[in-house]
Amino acid sequence: MDLRFSPAAEAFRAELRAWLVAHTPGGYGHGDAQHHASLDDEFEFHRAWQARLAADRWVGVHWPREYGGRGVGPEENYLLQEEMAQARAPEVINRIGVNLVGPSLMRHGTAAQRERWLSRILSCEDVWCQLFSEPGAGSDLTALTTRADADGDHFVVNGRKLWTSWAQYADYGILLARTDPAVKGARGISYLVIDMRAPGVEVRPLRQLTGSTEFNEVLLENVTVPRDDLIGELNGGWAIAQTTLAHERGTSPRQLVIHRMLLDSLLGLVRERGADQARRDQVAQCAIEVEIARLNNLRTLTRLVRGEKLGPESSFIKLYWSEMSQRMHDVVMEAHGPAGALWGGERAVADGRLVRSWLYYRAASIFAGSNEIQRNIIAQRTLGLPR
Ligand SMILES: Cc1cc2nc3c(=O)[nH]c(=O)nc-3n(C[C@H](O)[C@H](O)[C@H](O)COP(=O)(O)OP(=O)(O)OC[C@H]3O[C@@H](n4cnc5c(N)ncnc54)[C@H](O)[C@@H]3O)c2cc1C
Repeated sequence: MDLRFSPAAEAFRAELRAWLVAHTPGGYGHGDAQHHASLDDEFEFHRAWQARLAADRWVGVHWPREYGGRGVGPEENYLLQEEMAQARAPEVINRIGVNLVGPSLMRHGTAAQRERWLSRILSCEDVWCQLFSEPGAGSDLTALTTRADADGDHFVVNGRKLWTSWAQYADYGILLARTDPAVKGARGISYLVIDMRAPGVEVRPLRQLTGSTEFNEVLLENVTVPRDDLIGELNGGWAIAQTTLAHERGTSPRQLVIHRMLLDSLLGLVRERGADQARRDQVAQCAIEVEIARLNNLRTLTRLVRGEKLGPESSFIKLYWSEMSQRMHDVVMEAHGPAGALWGGERAVADGRLVRSWLYYRAASIFAGSNEIQRNIIAQRTLGLPR
């Protein structure tokens, strides 16, 4: 077992680290994320930051060079995310484009589709959203009812999508819609690209527990989608959706760094205030869990470096870090006492960011496939239990 990164990956890390020292915007890099006057401001700031990163090829480094990447391997991609988090640099905003849409189009898009869309994703010239979930179709996506009816050289789309992250800023969306209403389930679903500015697309932001409105309801009423924007075969969208969904889970270096920092803050707190035996046990448990998360990541990364495909273990990683995040946030909130729950004011912890983070991580057991679904996958595919 060798847990070291290759010399090439370490050289990549050193170059990136130096770049981040020189370019991470003011207000970041010291633990105090910059405050933005509104979500619009925040989005524009992140868009400009991603464009800056992309100009020097520090986004999607594992993408081919022709689309703006560096064509490097999984180690470098892992280190990119780890170092960005470690430097407390702002996050890349077009994550759906970079992580989900790009790989799906590279695998299933035609040459013309790849040419048209791929080179504008890393640079954030086009922002993408994912129009999969519906009010009655989340875990069971095959129950979706949005329709795309073929009409000559285009489709007419009608339906309602829900929980669409960043839809209010998106230029394009990947859409799952039923193109053969006569069949139920996975057959009869197609995978389309929809122009989010097309007539008939209405985006309604939804306010979350954190007070933010990152996700939305999207109403689609007689939206015209050219037939050229169908990805893959008509009624063959389910297989493409599997490619997209497979890229939602995997290693989670960013989460690892975030939780290592949370652990450090907890250690600082108990050193300052002292801790009884029960609290010391909790802190030790948190430290053990973070180390397990690191080893899980490295095990999965090793498989990726060897060119192996990820199976149910990506479910295990997602399940593990999301539950760890909720347990750790609970411990940290409890250790801070009532001040932990304050949103603002002098006594609020980290200017209220702790309570917002605690609330945000409630969603970790739902997004990217709920944890119950991950347990089902592990039960059936790893443990061989019956359905
Ligand atoms: C922060 C956030 C961002 C999101 N962004 C997007 C996005 O950009 N685009 C998009 O398309 N979607 C997005 N989603 C939606 C997300 O994919 C769904 O919420 C998720 O798939 C669960 O679906 P649901 O909410 O409809 O819950 P349901 O599927 O209705 O599930 C309700 C509960 O029942 C459980 N359950 C369901 N089926 C089973 C089963 N077979 N066995 C055991 N338990 C089961 C679930 O685990 C859950 O606890 C986002 C969600 C969140 C929280």
